[in-house]
Amino acid sequence: MTSTDDRMTPEELAAWQARKDAGRATAKSIEVQVAAAMAANPEVIDGFRLFCARMDVYSIRNAMRIFGQNPKATHVQPRFFWGGYGRAIAEPEAAIWIMAPKVERKHTKEVESPKTGEAETVEESYKFWPVEEVFPASATVPKNGPCPFCDTGEGQLCPDTCPVMQPQDGRIPSREDVTEALRKVLKQIGGFDASVLAALGDDPLGEYSDGVTWGTVTLTKGAAQGRKPKTRRYRFVHTVDMSRPGVRYAIAGLGVIWIGPYELAREGEPALQVQYGDNVTRAWELSHAHTWDSSRTVAGPHAPILNGVEFASTSIIYPTTSWDYFSPWRAGRARVPETTAQQMGQIVRQLLEHYHALPEADELDKEGARRRARRRAREAQEEVNRLAEQEARLASQRAGAEQRVAENRALAEQ
Ligand SMILES: [Zn+2]
Repeated sequence: MTSTDDRMTPEELAAWQARKDAGRATAKSIEVQVAAAMAANPEVIDGFRLFCARMDVYSIRNAMRIFGQNPKATHVQPRFFWGGYGRAIAEPEAAIWIMAPKVERKHTKEVESPKTGEAETVEESYKFWPVEEVFPASATVPKNGPCPFCDTGEGQLCPDTCPVMQPQDGRIPSREDVTEALRKVLKQIGGFDASVLAALGDDPLGEYSDGVTWGTVTLTKGAAQGRKPKTRRYRFVHTVDMSRPGVRYAIAGLGVIWIGPYELAREGEPALQVQYGDNVTRAWELSHAHTWDSSRTVAGPHAPILNGVEFASTSIIYPTTSWDYFSPWRAGRARVPETTAQQMGQIVRQLLEHYHALPEADELDKEGARRRARRRAREAQEEVNRLAEQEARLASQRAGAEQRVAENRALAEQ
């Protein structure tokens, strides 16, 4: 039993067990109902295969259980995972019961040997399929701040367009895969006659790629202190913005990080700018001002928060950047503490890898170079204008001086 169970009163434990038992019964009966319906109406099988792709990591049989309990479900996750997405369960009654993957436990016990009469240790193993509850995205709301994906306020329901609400980008199982699952589920009640599939004709489903693909970054904490390191996975979606140019990384449970070409980079020096939060567009000017006004390091919307430290402004990353000295600004007056900066460095390096591997990476580079060229042209033009003004002023001073020369010579010759 887990430590959570230890803290439950007997009444709570009984209620928890009853809830799980009811969930298990639901998961089992709904699976048979959905399978029987598909066997009777094989023309729905292809549609169900698409549903499976949208459910991504869940097995075909769990997709049947999910479909039976909530056919409108788009993206489902266990409660713990929703916490990782920075979301809270707003509708606990929307729970969907599925069966978690098989768990195999081994334990050893001492028995008396029938031959020798001495005690010996034998290993026993048993298997079980734990019942698990998952929740549809529609039952969750952003917590600890607005949604980093769609900006919906804390506790409010995100629109269907929010990446969190969208189906996943998964693999479509084959008709054979579904047949196999139907055979297993319907084994006790007459099985499944796969010959009905012949009437379906050619498979209309090719690749499915309408869903959301979540990237992940992994953060390892605590390794430096000689403790057992803990890892945490953050899920993110990215958006390429060529008008900026840059890539917006919305990272669940962390915040927003922009990566793009550094507009002030020198010729032949491919530097990137990492920006913490949205709308910090003038941060590069602040970071290059000779007189740094620390009161101006204001965190932007969706600024990343790590270990309670709110990041602000930008970091400039050169290919030769030494991550030992990676030292971002925090909101307020100071740099981020070293350990937290090191942890953000881990995340930024993984995002940089993702950035460089993007199909749009070259175009982002080129657009960055165009911006820099335009900026340099603008600066050079300002210099031209300044020199032209200076030239005009000098020309007028020279004309005056020449006139005085002429006047004085004329006077001298009188
Ligand atoms: Zn949202």
